[in-house]
Amino acid sequence: MPLIDLDAIRPLLVCPRCRSTLLAAPHSFHCAAPDCPYHPAGSFPMVGRWPVLVDFERSVLRREQVGLAAGAALPRSAVDRLPPALRGLWKPVNRAAVRNVDRLLRSLPGSAPTLLVVGGATVGNGTAAVYRDPRVQVIGFDIVTGPSTQFLADAHQIPLADRSADAIVVQAVLEHVLDPELVVAEIHRVLKDDGLVYAETPFLQQVHAGAYDFVRYTASGHRFLFRRFAEIDAGTVAGPGTQLVWSIDHLVRGLTRSATAGRLIRALLFWLRRLDAAVPAAYAADSASAQYFLGRKRDREMSPEEIIAYYRGAQRSR
Ligand SMILES: [Zn+2]
Repeated sequence: MPLIDLDAIRPLLVCPRCRSTLLAAPHSFHCAAPDCPYHPAGSFPMVGRWPVLVDFERSVLRREQVGLAAGAALPRSAVDRLPPALRGLWKPVNRAAVRNVDRLLRSLPGSAPTLLVVGGATVGNGTAAVYRDPRVQVIGFDIVTGPSTQFLADAHQIPLADRSADAIVVQAVLEHVLDPELVVAEIHRVLKDDGLVYAETPFLQQVHAGAYDFVRYTASGHRFLFRRFAEIDAGTVAGPGTQLVWSIDHLVRGLTRSATAGRLIRALLFWLRRLDAAVPAAYAADSASAQYFLGRKRDREMSPEEIIAYYRGAQRSR
């Protein structure tokens, strides 16, 4: 697995508050800037093998939470413990991610490109190729520890230097951050010039992480979120059939007060997802469960006129 060593990425690490160089002590890091509140030795402690590079005063994360998360391995959900053949009933392989990640990897430049996975504690559905490509140097961080991350951080203040990554993958993360605009600005900052981003974000999905679920995007809204990127491709991850399965699951949960009953009906209705393939792209765009954006960093922003002209759904403008 080409997840690179923490030592190898140490020169890229910066203070999440002021972006100054980080200095390493035996079991902690601290900021090199004398006037930074994180300058005192031990300001960024290690939890296990993971440095906690979080500006807690500006994060929804709490110190106690991080400690708890690191003390226990990330629990595998009941669905993830099922045999692969059964798992597909609840969580089919994300074919859009497989296809787009392959495209992203083939577009990466030269030797040993650096790819950052934002929210990468576990390998995302359809993104395993990122970790199998021997050419790619993977950097991963999350708010919880996991086998695929090197440090804990909050995506609103990515503790990496400007222009340090050739590509960034952010799958099913932006709905869980308080300020997606700020997170995408951080992605833009951390990418090298002409760097690539691959994002997947839900449109019509029910709340799925309790208190840590904040926002949804239409296809046009998602495009505008990435307005400082040139589009390579964008489209639907899962369409109205998948969206309907989610809705019936949550209706049944509400009627029975039972998440298990909802999950059961979701498995019985797996075939509804297949209807996605019969819906034309324009109609799918208007009622997607989730969508993707593959783009390249640029300086220019999209104008309001451009985003209106961008609409690809099936509804006619007045
Ligand atoms: Zn600092």
